[in-house]
Amino acid sequence: MAAAALIRLSSKPSLSSAASRVARCFASAPTSQAAPSSSSPSSSSPPLFAFSANPSPARREDPEARNVQWVFLGCPGVGKGTYASRLSVLLGVPHIATGDLVREELSSSGPLSLQLKEIVNQGQLVSDEIIIRLLSKRLEAGEAKGESGFILDGFPRTTKQAEILEGVTEIDLVVNLKLREDVLMEKCLGRRICSQCGKNFNVASINVKGENGNPGISMDPLLPPPHCMTKLITRSDDTEEVVKERLKIYYEKSQPVEDFYRRQGKLLEFDLPGGIPESWPKLLEALNLDDYEEKQSAAA
Ligand code: AMP
Repeated sequence: MAAAALIRLSSKPSLSSAASRVARCFASAPTSQAAPSSSSPSSSSPPLFAFSANPSPARREDPEARNVQWVFLGCPGVGKGTYASRLSVLLGVPHIATGDLVREELSSSGPLSLQLKEIVNQGQLVSDEIIIRLLSKRLEAGEAKGESGFILDGFPRTTKQAEILEGVTEIDLVVNLKLREDVLMEKCLGRRICSQCGKNFNVASINVKGENGNPGISMDPLLPPPHCMTKLITRSDDTEEVVKERLKIYYEKSQPVEDFYRRQGKLLEFDLPGGIPESWPKLLEALNLDDYEEKQSAAA
């Protein structure tokens, strides 16, 4: 059976209403960083997920009865795109990365393009208004194609964006990926994108020794297949200077979003233990999806 059919999504407001309401709600969204109002969905009903770093078996839920309206948080370079896209394939829901939407707009030579280029190349955040517009457009296009559920990557990035999202739909789970800062920088500098197929690769070979109680970490490069090798490009915002700025902005503006979801009991903290071969099975285990993946592979 297709993974999408196994996931229960019907009890949520539809994405179409979510998409069209996102833009409307933006205008009336609170500008302060106050806690959500008492009428918001998550404050009136208990969270569906209440993960801790090590959920006990009794708290682990049946993945086949889950909603998938998930958010991936984490610093630039941590691997949100890699793991969100793998999970989107496994669960049959779209992976929506607002950074990709911004880059598409940038390369479209549309009216926003020049304005966005300057902001992105300085490592700054695009305005909430623009990002909500791009996200609404993407959700509406997906809804027209019959998509349901989503894994958001790179959104929300400010508490205000989190409040706006909360006003239009309920988020079921937020995965917060974490990695040492020196490794984040190496990963950003090693990142490459195939200009033809758009897939992400990484040429960095990471081998950092443990110190001061922090464990060491090794990650093999994620090299492209031969047909992508000659088409690799580096993102213009993956330079040392811009990555430093992006990290600073993450700590200032995006880290409060972790607290926003932590208070709601929706945050699953996940320290990446290494590269994909080590981290992927552990992430599946933390999400209670390890058996599910086996079942899916057996059914394929
Ligand atoms: P990313 O690929 O997620 O690193 O995003 C690339 C760039 O797109 C960021 O540095 C921002 O300039 C912009 N961007 C992506 N998502 C958002 C967001 N939710 N809010 C504001 N700016 C964003």
